[in-house]
Amino acid sequence: MPYDTQPPASHFIDGAYVEDTAGTPIDVIYPATGEKIATVHAATPAIVEQAIAAARRAQAAWAAMTGTERGRILRRAADMMRARNHDLSVLETYDTGKPYQETSVADATSGADALEYFGGMAATLTGEHIQLGEDWVYTRREPLGVCVGIGAWNYPTQIACWKGAPALACGNSMIFKPSETTPLSALKVAEILHEAGLPAGLYNVVQGMGEVGAALIEDPRVDKVSLTGSVPTGRKVYAAAAAGIKHVTMELGGKSPLIVFEDADIENAVSGAILGNFYSSGQVCSNGTRVFVHTAIKEKFLNRLATRLANAVIGDPMDPETSFGPMVSERQMNIALDYVAKGKAEGARLVYGGSRVDRDGFYMEPTVFADVTDDMTIAREEIFGPVMAVLDFTDEEDVMTRANDTEFGLAAGVFTRDLTRAHRVAARFEAGTCYINTYNDAPVEAPFGGSKNSGVGRENSKAAINHYTQLKSVYVRMGDLEAPF
Ligand code: NDP
Repeated sequence: MPYDTQPPASHFIDGAYVEDTAGTPIDVIYPATGEKIATVHAATPAIVEQAIAAARRAQAAWAAMTGTERGRILRRAADMMRARNHDLSVLETYDTGKPYQETSVADATSGADALEYFGGMAATLTGEHIQLGEDWVYTRREPLGVCVGIGAWNYPTQIACWKGAPALACGNSMIFKPSETTPLSALKVAEILHEAGLPAGLYNVVQGMGEVGAALIEDPRVDKVSLTGSVPTGRKVYAAAAAGIKHVTMELGGKSPLIVFEDADIENAVSGAILGNFYSSGQVCSNGTRVFVHTAIKEKFLNRLATRLANAVIGDPMDPETSFGPMVSERQMNIALDYVAKGKAEGARLVYGGSRVDRDGFYMEPTVFADVTDDMTIAREEIFGPVMAVLDFTDEEDVMTRANDTEFGLAAGVFTRDLTRAHRVAARFEAGTCYINTYNDAPVEAPFGGSKNSGVGRENSKAAINHYTQLKSVYVRMGDLEAPF
C-alpha cells in the first residue's frame, strides 16, 4: 500500500486518538481490489461513555465563545482541508472506491465548503427583537447541546462536515459515527478541526455498527441526531429519538424522477441522466433513477446514452483518467446485480451493461433498462447502484402523477426548453431538491433534503441553522404587572 491507510487508533475523542481493542474488529476493504487496508474496532460502551462525557463537558464553553471566534476556527479548518485535498481524496478513494477524478473535486472540497460557509455564518447568528407596545420580547438563538451525526458510506468526508460544520457553528458539540464500511476519513476531519484550534471534546468520532449509533441516540445526554442513511434505518433512528423527544434531521433514500420532455436539449439531458445515475457508481441518494423520456425522442436519447456510456473509463480509481469505479462493497454490488436480474425477469429491456466487470474488486457496468413500467421492482425500490430505468411518457399531466407516485421525495429533475413548463413541473414535484436542466448539483448555499419518506429537516444553507439551534423567547415587561387577585 503506497499510502498509510491505517489510522493511529479507531476513535477520536476529547481531542486525541483513542483505542479500545475489546471492540469488535472492523476490516476496511479497498473496493477496487478487495484488499484489507486498515482495521478499526467498534466502540465499546466505555468508548461511547468517554465520547458523550467529553462532548457534554466541552459544549458550554464553546457556546459561550463569540460566533466570530467559533467561525474563525471552522474557516481555518476549511483552508487546511483544501490544502490537503490530494491526500484526503486519496484516502477517500481507498475508503469508498470512488475514482480520484471524483473525490478530488467532490468530497473534501465539499466538506471544506461547509466549514467555510458555516464558519462565515457563525458570527451572524442572532435572535430578534419583537416590540409589543412598551413591552418587548427578544429571542436568543441557542445551541441544542450534544449532537450525534450518523453517516452513510457514499460521501464519508462530506457527511462528516455537512453535519459537523453547522453543529459547531451554532455552538453545539458533535459525536460522529461513520458507516462501518467507510470509517477512515471522518478521523481526518477530526484531526484537521483540532489542528485548526477546535477545543478538545467538540468533535468526536466513534466507530461501530448500528448498535453504536443506537447507544448514542438513546443516551439522555444527547440532544439531537442527524442521520444520513436508508429509510428503514431512518425509521429506527427517528423512533429512538422520539423516545427522548430529541431533535432530528433525517437524510434518507430516494427513487427520484428525471423527466425529459420532447423539446429538451438531448445532449444536456443525457448528461443529466449520466450525472444522476452513474456518478459514484450510482451510489448517490438523490439520483434520478426513474428517467421518464418522451416517446418522440426516446430512441435518440437511448442511442446517445449508449454512445456516451461507451466512453466511461472503468478502471483503477487512482488513475485520474478513470471515470467509473467499483461499488463500495461486494454486498452492495450483489444487491445491485440482483436488481438487474429482477429487471430482466420482470420484462424490462436491457440496453446497456448489466454485468459484473471481469476484474478484481467490486465493479459492475453502468446499466440501462428501457421499456420500464411503473410497477416493476426496478422502478419502485431504491437500488443504490448504477442501474438506470428509462420509462416512456407522452403527456405532462400523466407523467407528473407517475413521477410523484412513490413513497420517496428526495429529489426530482426536468429537462425542457419551455420556461413555463419547467417551473410548473418543478412546483408540482413532491420532492425537497429539484433541478431544471441540470441534475445533482449540491452547493452548500442551497437547502438539501427530502420530503415524504426521504427525510425530515434540511442540510446546508441558512435552513440548517434552524436544525442546530432552538429559540428562547424572553418577555420583558416595562411597567407594573397587574394580576386578578
Ligand atoms: P444505512 O441506513 O444502512 O446506514 C446508515 C448509518 O446508520 C450507518 O452508519 C449505520 O451503521 C447506521 N445505523 C444502522 N442501524 C442503526 C440503528 N438502529 N441506530 C443507529 N444507527 C444505525 O445506510 P447505508 O450506509 O447503506 O447508506 C445508503 C443509504 O443512505 C441509502 O438509502 C441512501 O439513499 C441513503 N443516503 C441518503 C443521503 C441523503 O442525504 N438523503 C445521502 C447519502 C445516502 P452501519 O452501517 O455501520 O451498521
